[in-house]
Amino acid sequence: MKGPTAKDLELIESLEFASPAEQLEGWKSIARKYPDDSIAQMNYASALLDTGDSRAAREVCERAMARRGRQKEIVAQLALVAHADGDSDQALELADEAIRLDYQWPPLLALRGSVLSERGETAAAAVEFLAAYVAEPHAWDCLRQYCELSGREYRAPDEKPAPTLGPLARAWLYQFIDQVAHTPTANGELPGCDHTFRFVQRWCGIAGYDAIDVYQFLNAKGAFCDCEVIFNTEGDDEVLDCLAVLGGTLGPAPQLRAALVAAGVAVETEATPVIVPRGASDGDEAGDGDQDEDEDEDEDENQPVLLRAAANSEPIAVLPQLASGRSWGSLAHGVATQAEPGVTFWAAVIPLGDPRRAPFPRCAWVSVDGKSREWRLTGKQLPKDLPSVVERAMADGFEKLAAEIPSAPSDSRQRR
Ligand SMILES: [Zn+2]
Repeated sequence: MKGPTAKDLELIESLEFASPAEQLEGWKSIARKYPDDSIAQMNYASALLDTGDSRAAREVCERAMARRGRQKEIVAQLALVAHADGDSDQALELADEAIRLDYQWPPLLALRGSVLSERGETAAAAVEFLAAYVAEPHAWDCLRQYCELSGREYRAPDEKPAPTLGPLARAWLYQFIDQVAHTPTANGELPGCDHTFRFVQRWCGIAGYDAIDVYQFLNAKGAFCDCEVIFNTEGDDEVLDCLAVLGGTLGPAPQLRAALVAAGVAVETEATPVIVPRGASDGDEAGDGDQDEDEDEDEDENQPVLLRAAANSEPIAVLPQLASGRSWGSLAHGVATQAEPGVTFWAAVIPLGDPRRAPFPRCAWVSVDGKSREWRLTGKQLPKDLPSVVERAMADGFEKLAAEIPSAPSDSRQRR
């Protein structure tokens, strides 16, 4: 069987952004030209179904099945037709048949979710909708259905997101995704993005964040797969271009320190660093938004974090310094995943990247035994005994702590 001609491929490509009527016309002509191409036939059936003509869609499916047999794509499309016709028994049967043929197509999972939900099998329906969303995060409506069925709060991508991830957690997430996506697998291939949130999901497991909340947050920030988190969410997250680390301590943690230094995440110094504001040198602000500046910038993005040289038995000071979000992310990841048991890390950080924000958010980050929490201190004085205070708050709750801490003398002083 011959594949479509170059001209037809061009037509097929253009249909992705065409109106429903144009799609119907386009697929009709393609389907007529390639009667043995099941995908072309099923796209035609799908276009018919989109315009409400389920009878014609069924005919196309049945004709294709007569020619090509019970192929998974044909069975699956027929399941959608049956569902549109209100025959949920047949729809479910066909969906199950296609899934048995190893076709984990998100619309099939959503179909199962709808039918199970109609039948009052709420928990099972929620599982199907979540699976459909995880396989294809652009189908955010499936996440909405999952949340509704499981009694969770849901905010659509066009609503204001809940403040699920603070800036320091986001910095860690971005660094993590970029790192794993570019780390070759055992057979030497780069994993890259597979159009899902598989790395976001893995990060949530490591960092201790609720994946359902994080998906909603990222959808609202314009990301519907791992690479879009880097291009869209991080790309817009100017607040992370520069972080002022006010100070912090780590340890004592000799193993972790050695690991961080060996990995180039941190360097030890006896000297007191001088904070030099960056910027000034690159005047290429006009061409913003493009990714053609990446190579040079990557180098300075991953500058190691400065630690005070100390004896193995002593806590290690994180020196006051400016750092990029990426450098912070590497440090947070190293501490959370490689610290020896019982080690506490804390740092107070002000993201300085976006000068339009006033006042700048002040954040405390605490990681105890690999469990990390971020706390925004905006409008509050930094407690003098920050590490122990925040450590306690990880058990008692940050709301209680916030109520106990006095407000900063005057927030307006921080505005410029
Ligand atoms: Zn992607």
